[in-house]
Amino acid sequence: MSKTTITLIPGDGIGPEVSRATMRVLDAAGADLEYEIHVAGAEAVKQSGNPLPDEVLESVKKNRVALKGPVATQVGGGFQSINVQLRQKLELYANLRPSRSLPSIPSRFENVDIVVVRENTEDLYSGLEHIVVPGVVESLKIITEKASTRIAKFAFEYARRHNRKRVTAVHKANIMKLSDGLFLNCFRKVAADYPEIKADDKIVDNMCMQLVIRPEEWDILLLENLYGDIVSDLCAGLVGGLGVVPGANIGEEASVFEAVHGTAPDIAGRDLANPLALIRSAILMLYHMHKDEAAERVRAALRHVIVKRGIRTRDLGGEAGTTQFTDAVVEAIQAGEGTTAPATL
Ligand code: NAD
Repeated sequence: MSKTTITLIPGDGIGPEVSRATMRVLDAAGADLEYEIHVAGAEAVKQSGNPLPDEVLESVKKNRVALKGPVATQVGGGFQSINVQLRQKLELYANLRPSRSLPSIPSRFENVDIVVVRENTEDLYSGLEHIVVPGVVESLKIITEKASTRIAKFAFEYARRHNRKRVTAVHKANIMKLSDGLFLNCFRKVAADYPEIKADDKIVDNMCMQLVIRPEEWDILLLENLYGDIVSDLCAGLVGGLGVVPGANIGEEASVFEAVHGTAPDIAGRDLANPLALIRSAILMLYHMHKDEAAERVRAALRHVIVKRGIRTRDLGGEAGTTQFTDAVVEAIQAGEGTTAPATL
C-alpha cells in the first residue's frame, strides 16, 4: 500500500523534540506516513527571512493534513503569529481541544471530559490594530454571522457524531452586545436544528469560576477565538496541564493537528518536554485520516506505558525524559502491549 504524505512543521523551542518523538511513534504504529518537512517561524526567518514561506502553505494545501509543533510569536511586536496566519489563510475555522481526565495522570479533578470548540479565524485575532492618536490604540474585534453560524454548526455536528449531550456557548454579550450578541444569536438559531442536544449559554467570567469548582458538569463549550484560547488552557490545567492536551484545527480544505502548548523555551533542548500532547494530536489526525487501527495501537501503548508501567515525564510527576518516554511507547507498540485493554488514553 502506498504511503500517505502529510506536511510536518516541527516548529520552535520544544517543537522539534516532540515532533521527532511523535514521528517515531507513528512509524512504529504502522501509520504508513511520509513527511514533507517544512520550517516556519523563527527558524524560517533565519533561513529565508520569511516566517511563513509560501511552500509551507502550498504543501498543507496539497497534502490536506499537517502535523505541527509550536511556533514562537514575539510579544508586543515582530511578525504576525504564524499560527494565526496558518489558520486564517487555510480557513481552519474550527479549533477542537478536548480535555479529559486520564488514568494515572495527576490532577485536582476527576471525571472531566470537556471539548472546547473555538472559532479560529476572527475576533480580536483579526490583527486589525491601529494608533488613533499617540497614546490611544484601537483593536478591532470582528465577529461575523457567517463564521459564527459555521462554528456553531460544527459544534452541534460534533456533538451529534460523538454522542455528546450538551453544547454551552460562552460569551460576554452582556457587555459586547453587538459582537458577542451576534455570536450568541447565531448559536441559538443553529441550536434549534438540534433539539436532541441541550443548548445553553454562560457569561465567560462565570464560566471560568464554574469550571474550577465543578468541571465534571460541562460537556462541549463553544467560544469565540480569544475566550476559546484562554478557556482551553484553563481546561488543560484541569486534567494535568499543557503536556497532555491535544488539538486540531479543522477546515474544509485542510486540517492542522497541534498540541495546545507553546514552545516552552524554559525546557527546550533538555530532553524534558512531554511529547504526549503532540502524540495525542497525532491520534486525532489518524482518526481524521481513517487510520483507526494505527490510532488504537498508539492509544493502547500509551495506556500501557502510563497506567501499567507508570512511566511519565516530569511535568506529570514522573522521572522520564522525552526520549525515555518515547522509547517506552515505541517498545510497547512493537510488543503489541495493551492491545486488548480498553484504550482510554
Ligand atoms: P508554553 O505552552 O510554551 O509554556 C507554558 C508552561 O508549560 C511552561 O512552563 C512550559 O515549560 C510548560 N509546558 C508546555 N508544554 C510542555 C510540554 N510539552 N511538556 C512539559 N512542559 C510543557 O506557553 P508560553 O511560555 O506562554 O509560550 C511560549 C511561546 O510559545 C510563545 O512564543 C507563544 O507565542 C508560543 N505559543 C505557540 C503556540 C502554538 O504554536 N500553537 C501555542 C501557545 C504558545
